[in-house]
Amino acid sequence: MVIDSLEFARRHGALSGRLQLGTLPRLTDVLFDVSGSLDYEVSGETAGDEVFLALKLEGPLRLTCQRCLGALEFALSVRSRVMLVEPGSPWPDDSHVGGLEDEACDAIEASRELDTTPLLEEEILLALPIAPRHEHCEPPAAAIVSKEASPFAKLARLKRN
Ligand SMILES: [Zn+2]
Repeated sequence: MVIDSLEFARRHGALSGRLQLGTLPRLTDVLFDVSGSLDYEVSGETAGDEVFLALKLEGPLRLTCQRCLGALEFALSVRSRVMLVEPGSPWPDDSHVGGLEDEACDAIEASRELDTTPLLEEEILLALPIAPRHEHCEPPAAAIVSKEASPFAKLARLKRN
């Protein structure tokens, strides 16, 4: 998944396939299980002199519920763009990136050997909820006990009374 990023984008290249979740090290921490995969698409876009990579990710993930620690189904659907900046070129200011202010996107330095996997992984991480929870669930009994036993929980109770 290594591309010559500027060349790829300028010829409006397209690349698609399947990402195995188990190969994404930063994602394994937040997933309940790392079996399965996501569909991805990377395509090149240009607008005037500006060059972009459009990223698309789609697929089911199983996150860990922060309350009951069980599996939580999450349908991932990401559409995003990153702007490629030629090495040595001035870095665009935030409001300008993407050409339109309401369509701001991140900028990365263009590379002849750009590995798209970490880029896609970053987009997945950005799209995940910070504290995923089921709408209705109970904390496991063990967690309640440890919370009750903690001095902070006691303190919180005293303050409340
Ligand atoms: Zn839960």
